[in-house]
This record gives sequence, C-alpha cells and structure tokens, in this order.
Amino acid sequence: MKHRDTNRLLQRLQQAVSRPDLASHGIQLQHLGQVSGLPVVHVAIGHSSKPRVLVIAGTHGDEPASVEAAVQLLESFPVEWLDHFGVDVLPCTNPTGWRLRTRENAAGIDINWAFAQEGIAEVDILKAFLQGRRWQVVVDFHEDWEAQGFYLYEHQRQSTFIGPAVAASVAPACGLETAQQIDGWPAVGAVIHADDSVERLRRGDGLPLILLRDHTDHKLTTETPTSLPMAQRVKAHHLALAAIVDHHKKANASS
Ligand SMILES: [Zn+2]
Repeated sequence: MKHRDTNRLLQRLQQAVSRPDLASHGIQLQHLGQVSGLPVVHVAIGHSSKPRVLVIAGTHGDEPASVEAAVQLLESFPVEWLDHFGVDVLPCTNPTGWRLRTRENAAGIDINWAFAQEGIAEVDILKAFLQGRRWQVVVDFHEDWEAQGFYLYEHQRQSTFIGPAVAASVAPACGLETAQQIDGWPAVGAVIHADDSVERLRRGDGLPLILLRDHTDHKLTTETPTSLPMAQRVKAHHLALAAIVDHHKKANASS
C-alpha cells in the first residue's frame, strides 16, 4: 500500500495554525524532534494563564482517524474553548508508523508501551515534552480494528467518572461497542476503567500510566472502530472531546 503523505500532513497543520482568528489567541507550531527525518509536531493554543488540555493522536500508525481527528480539530478549532483552557495538541506522535500505516514505528516498536525502554526516539521526544508539565485532562485518540462501536478508557483521580456521559454524547453519531470484555478489560456501556497497577504489571510502563502518574489527574482514551467511514470516526472523537472539555469547563466554574 502507498505510504501516507507526510508533507501534506505538515502543510495542513501549517495552514491550520495560520488561521487569522487564532493568531490573537496565541498559537504556535513547534517541532519537538525528528524520527527518521520526520518531525514530531506540537501545536500550542492559548495563553499560559489558563488550565490546559492535552490531545494526543497518532501513537499507533494504523489508526488514521486519530491523526485526522487531531488535524481537523485544529482546522476548525472551537475558539470559545480558549476562554477556559489552553490546548496542546500532538497530532502525530508516531510519524514513521503513520507514514507506513503500521501500528508500531518503523523499527517495529509500539510507542505506547515502550516508556520503560531507553533510546527510542519517539519516547525520548515525548518524555522531554512532558517533563514538568501538567494538564487538567489528557485525551488520547485511538482506533480499534476489531471493535464494532465506539468505546473509551477512563483513568482518573477525581470523584466522578464521566465516561458514561461521554459515551452518551457520542452515541447519536456513532454506535457504541456492546462487548462486555474489550482487550481483556471488563467494559460497561462502552467504558473501561482499567486498573493501573494491573495494567503496569501486564504491559510495562506505558504512556497512559506515565501521563496519569506524573502529568494529569484525568485521562481518557477514545477508540473508534476502523471499519466505519472516516468522517464518522472523526466525528466520534470530536464529540467525545467536546463532552470532556465541557465537563471540565463546568467543573472549574463550580469550584
Ligand atoms: Zn491505538
């Protein structure tokens, strides 16, 4: 199969961050580093005084709706979010895997679960980026080749889980996964609350666990079924993200 066009992706990101209506809010595109000549990009939007939201995409290269949802988020960014939050977007954390359409990077490594290993370029770039930063919430876009419907993982240290409400807001646009066991985890209403300690023992230190341990109190991973049309999968990620941002906006307003 043909390689994906990295130059086109970078052009779209460049165009998205050049939108005049975002310029006054502060928007920056940075290259965090390179993997085999391909940049890992960070887009920061909003001024630094507000709590921040992090959106991660493209950690698995064979999950294209993840990257597409991140790029389209930037292309039609909801400026009103910036009244409440600054937003960081990592639109493609595994550029070689995305280009080659493989889950792993070009060296065959699953970035998501390689945080205990040394000398992996993508992991080193992400660790340097994360160093010393915290976000009010982190949302990680993924896809699932086996799923029939949308589902999500929620990890958090707050009092209320919002997963069921997030799933409900996605349901009108994308059916929910009905399996009661997903990827080895019990799922209720398309929501998985995976236990961190068990997950760590099973898979080694992964990005989801590092994020929750050091960088946020609330992390959600949204998963769309790869078999559905791209536009529907992108919409599902966007509806989930909007519901999550809305929850945090209200939580801040009432605290
Ligand atoms: Zn994935």
